[in-house]
Amino acid sequence: MPTSTSLATPELRVDLDALGANVRAFRRRSRGLVAVVKADAFGHGDVVAHLLAQGADWLGTTSLAEAVALRERTGARTLAWLASPTADFGPAVAAGVDVAVPSLAHLRAVVAAARATCVPARVHLHVDLGIARDGAPREAWRELVTFAGALVRIGLLEPAGVMGHLSHAAHPDDARNRTERMLFDNAVRTAVRRGFVPQVRHVAATAAALRDVGTEYELVRVGAGLYGIDPAGGDALAPVIGLAAPAVVVRDVGAGTGVGYDHAWVATRRTRLATIPVGYADGIPRVASGRAEVLVRGRRARIVGAVSMDQVIVDVGDAGVEAGEPVTIVGTEPQAPTLGEWADWSGTIAHDIVTHLGSRWQRTFTGGAACA
Ligand SMILES: *Cc1c(COP(=O)(O)O)cnc(C)c1O
Repeated sequence: MPTSTSLATPELRVDLDALGANVRAFRRRSRGLVAVVKADAFGHGDVVAHLLAQGADWLGTTSLAEAVALRERTGARTLAWLASPTADFGPAVAAGVDVAVPSLAHLRAVVAAARATCVPARVHLHVDLGIARDGAPREAWRELVTFAGALVRIGLLEPAGVMGHLSHAAHPDDARNRTERMLFDNAVRTAVRRGFVPQVRHVAATAAALRDVGTEYELVRVGAGLYGIDPAGGDALAPVIGLAAPAVVVRDVGAGTGVGYDHAWVATRRTRLATIPVGYADGIPRVASGRAEVLVRGRRARIVGAVSMDQVIVDVGDAGVEAGEPVTIVGTEPQAPTLGEWADWSGTIAHDIVTHLGSRWQRTFTGGAACA
């Protein structure tokens, strides 16, 4: 889409049609889809209704508070997987939120909430498959499932699921994908023997689901891919986000003009500079200073000098750009910078870029007919 010529403020456009296409693509390659909407849907804002309308079966997020709000708003099965055992699980259990349980301490906290609210807790026992992050260590698994099985028998737990997370899914040929799934199958068998018979099993996130690793289980938990990001660098998904801002000031400068703090860049020829009102407080990584490019009048132009908190300066050369003209920071038009390029310029991953865009962008949603 060409950028509007009347752009007045920095704009973050979410293409709901692209988002819907990605949802449907993952829905086709899985038996059931958990749409992961943590961190405000990876910075995309309020897209939950659209994700559900396009076929997401469940919602997934990290915090209990987010999960309760999502569950109350949508009624969808909603999984939360990162809470402290000191948290109050009461509101989540009462709302019917599915909670991941990685330890006995968590299980005790969840059961206390189930007792207090007289609602059986929907529990997904979370086993660490070799990523040493938020699942239960294997040594602790037997004790955890034994206790959980006993709680199922007395009606305090609903055995909702068993989950894991693969460590090398972006590398489908890595042998650990196979060994981790064997570990997972063993963990499920142990749980079943102890009386915790899960309704669903899930290990795959975006990279795995795209490569059919772990898609044999009932659910996949996909975040990045819904938003067009393949952690393994493939380009099969539809880009969802667009970023544009107007040039607010332009000036013609001569060779030798120092630009920005400490004159981090000095013009070597006569040129035109355009100031764009987005900076590191808007998620333009400061480390991309002097490397990143934008699209102006269909041509690439480099960000020069240091990225400031609220603004960047672009060397637009002889493109004749005027104040008020739109500049594409991320887009899908020919030659437009992609999120992947921004990640490279910044020495990071696209997830890191989209989750730091901040609240000053005006979020607009395109496409996505209400009854699609
Ligand atoms: C973030 C997260 C996901 C989603 O991962 P993507 O690679 O963004 O699809 C799935 N499962 C867990 C446990 C996560 O933390």
